[in-house]
Amino acid sequence: MSQMLPATISPTLFAERADAIAAAAAQLAAAGWTPATSSNFSMRRDDEHAAITISGRDKGCLSRGDIMLVDMQGHAVGTSARPSAETELHTQVYRRWPEMNVVLHTHSRTQSVASRLFAKDGVIRLKGWELQKAIAGQTTHDSELLIPVFPNTQHMPELVAQVDAWLDAGKPLHAYLIDGHGIYTWGRDMAETRRHLEALEFLLGCELDLRRLSA
Ligand SMILES: [Zn+2]
Repeated sequence: MSQMLPATISPTLFAERADAIAAAAAQLAAAGWTPATSSNFSMRRDDEHAAITISGRDKGCLSRGDIMLVDMQGHAVGTSARPSAETELHTQVYRRWPEMNVVLHTHSRTQSVASRLFAKDGVIRLKGWELQKAIAGQTTHDSELLIPVFPNTQHMPELVAQVDAWLDAGKPLHAYLIDGHGIYTWGRDMAETRRHLEALEFLLGCELDLRRLSA
């Protein structure tokens, strides 16, 4: 799909972002974390724009034409393509944290099952796992890492409000699950965000195994 980028948007920089998203998406799809065209990925382009996957595309074989530009309110820029239905959750991260530049959202089986299991508690409390240190700012396995589980809804402003309420209560947030749905996490660059996602997938899998073994 051709895109008419505004004159202020560098096509080269947009292409770099699109290529980075496509490369990460291909690897996450190969891991089985993006079933049936689900999941969405974005990278900040600048203070006012982000590159994000177009809705409904197979995440295993994205090309530049499958990535589009949105403004920080989630509106399409320079294209008639439709961004992911969950675009507002991405732009929320960019608005709240100027230092965050990548958001990854996947629907792995582990993430989905964990979200259902812990939905009644509204949070997963990770403690005692060495891999918690893979999350930026976490320096010891001894600290408690809270991953909230928000109720799912197709009405994005409700999800945005739940995330805002958590943050406005002063609670740290590195990632969240949506019940029966998947995970969102973010970071300063693609490598950090991939590390967060992989660590959380591993930690959620460990928590599920523990419950299976102690049942
Ligand atoms: Zn989703």
